[in-house]
Amino acid sequence: MLSVASALEKLLKEFSVVKAEPVALMNCRGRILAEDVRASFDLPLFTNSSMDGFAVKSDDVRHAGVDHPVELSVIADIPAGLVVGKEIKKGQAIRIMTGAVVPKGCDAVVPIEDTNYGLNRAQDEFPWPIQIYKPVNPGDYLRVRGQDVHAGEVVLTAGTFLRPQELGFLGMLGFKEVLVYRRPKVAILSTGDELVKVGSALAPGKIYDANSVMLAAQIVESGGEFLDLGIAKDKHDDIYQRLEKGFMEQADLIVSSAGVSVGAFDLVRQVIEEYGSISFWRVNMRPGKPLAFGNYRGIPFVGLPGNPVSAFVGFDVFVQPAIAKLSGNREFPRPAQKVKLDEEIISDGRESYLRGIVYQKEGELYARLTGHQGSGNLRSLVQSNAFLIVPSEVKSLPIGAEVNAWITGVINQAISEDLGF
Ligand code: AMP
Ligand code: MG
Repeated sequence: MLSVASALEKLLKEFSVVKAEPVALMNCRGRILAEDVRASFDLPLFTNSSMDGFAVKSDDVRHAGVDHPVELSVIADIPAGLVVGKEIKKGQAIRIMTGAVVPKGCDAVVPIEDTNYGLNRAQDEFPWPIQIYKPVNPGDYLRVRGQDVHAGEVVLTAGTFLRPQELGFLGMLGFKEVLVYRRPKVAILSTGDELVKVGSALAPGKIYDANSVMLAAQIVESGGEFLDLGIAKDKHDDIYQRLEKGFMEQADLIVSSAGVSVGAFDLVRQVIEEYGSISFWRVNMRPGKPLAFGNYRGIPFVGLPGNPVSAFVGFDVFVQPAIAKLSGNREFPRPAQKVKLDEEIISDGRESYLRGIVYQKEGELYARLTGHQGSGNLRSLVQSNAFLIVPSEVKSLPIGAEVNAWITGVINQAISEDLGF
């Protein structure tokens, strides 16, 4: 049976990045930059004051002290946003606001706190005297033109995940919009005669379709947008019709759940093989062994198992990296975290993704499992904040062993005794 690593490698080969589109900065959070961005001007754009204070010649105040202040003559005001053509000469100062353009002749700013300038003192007739209590060095409290960014420099590269800070930075550089990759469109299809859409009435033997809801959210979290193909009955034609909708709407990827194992009604695999092909349909992992990959009329297709936890894990292991590749996100994958087992783990030799709680104790990360690991038990997935990854071939791990974990939630200081795991 195919290992997780080789299955993933096989699968990722079939994906390439989607097209880019220009999007307004305000709507770019979480998008992936599709171009290298160059600054068209320096940052700061002009040398300015980093404090409210007095623009001075540092040489004038070299000997200033609280006991022997230096008196300067204030000849003007420079508010932020205005250019004042005044130059300071020896013995003079100009009152300046944070962010205001530094005047000619000034090589430093003395903050208001280091002067006798009273809070409510409004002076509009110049000159007036100011006492300086502290010396400054050349360059003090100045934000020098170009100290952060030089015009022409590449400041962000294609493939960058855009967080609020990147967007603020792009705004500072005067961009109104940037090229980002289109969000990959991922179609989801649930299959099974037992399934009922959430909100509808249940009948005996029926259960709610949890997977559509969960997978849609996983798609959005991964940077994609979802296309809901609904619930297909265990009937060839219904499955076909719904897959056709995914094809017509030009999905970049179709993800189904259930119907790919060896059950008598597992028809999804059959329909896929009829209109496309299956490249593999089993992976040596737990949960989620019956996982199919292929294409439907040329569109990549991932058939996840029906059990919700298996579907979730299959998504995280295979679909999330595929969406990352489709969306040009080069900051994927996130690294696994090393944690120490706080209980013995028994495994069956498959690569296992076990629901666990990771917590911090004396500066180290420890982990234990959350309840029984049945693949229908979404509750234990909800209670978990990590997947503990047990490699293939391993049948048991003792207390204290180190394992890799994917963190999926908040890590608390100590495990709560009330959880009762
Ligand atoms: P199957 O892969 O069809 O054998 O399904 C495996 C298990 O997952 C069965 O217990 C199904 O009822 C359950 N299942 C399949 N699809 C869903 C779904 N969309 N939501 C919740 N449970 C599901
Ligand atoms: Mg089924």
